[in-house]
Amino acid sequence: MNPLERLHDIERRLIAGTLSVDGACTEVFTGPKPWQTPWWKERRSEHLGPACVTCGSPEPPLVIQHTWQPVRWRDALRLVGPPNWEWWKEQHPLPDLNQPVDLGTTLPVCPHCGSHQVRRRVRTKDWVCHVGQCGAPHQRHADFAFPEPKFELRQDPKALREHKRTIRQKYLALSQARWEAWLKSPEAEENRLRALRLCIEESKRYLSFADTKTLCRPCAGREDVEHIRRGNRAKARREEANPDWSELEEHERFAEGLDTGNGEPSGS
Ligand SMILES: [Zn+2]
Ligand SMILES: [Zn+2]
Repeated sequence: MNPLERLHDIERRLIAGTLSVDGACTEVFTGPKPWQTPWWKERRSEHLGPACVTCGSPEPPLVIQHTWQPVRWRDALRLVGPPNWEWWKEQHPLPDLNQPVDLGTTLPVCPHCGSHQVRRRVRTKDWVCHVGQCGAPHQRHADFAFPEPKFELRQDPKALREHKRTIRQKYLALSQARWEAWLKSPEAEENRLRALRLCIEESKRYLSFADTKTLCRPCAGREDVEHIRRGNRAKARREEANPDWSELEEHERFAEGLDTGNGEPSGS
């Protein structure tokens, strides 16, 4: 069987139900590579033109360039439909990352510069601002001692860090549980089957050599670079088109952001 016949055979058994999705995946993805077969070499020479279609050079070696690539397995899983997590989200809502945090604590602060680095002096029965007394030259102020401090509501940095850590752990646990639940759902199995059939369909098109052209070596090298750029742009577009995935990635980015100290109180 040549690679194309092999693919048709796998598809037939998959549709007939005599081959499982797992079994078909193994056959499709771990079988012999089509381009290592004599069949491939024959097809190649059949489709190789007499000259480079870009610059017209007939100079050998001429190569066959595929102008279209079949979708990869990972991308196929996304393309056939992202997991439908609505039912799961309803039962296990993600922590609200924007909820107002009331972590205020009332601290004595310097009435002149607002610093909370103040302490009471028992002997002289007054208060002293540490920053005003011995901070950086531009922070010092002559009236660093005062009878009473001001009291202000400030965010407690320790409590805020702890709060972020709790949200992050809650989020990660939910996210992991959701993914595991989805993997065991009938929908995941359906998703895999549809992705596999898409892969097979696209591999058939690839093996038909319909989307090929003849190029000289230098032109082929240049187009490879262009191809990689196009691939990256297409990936970005796909992620835009699938809001569920981008939402998930958004959450992941946010969860990462929780660790970078964004939103830390400043000026203390
Ligand atoms: Zn050329
Ligand atoms: Zn001060």
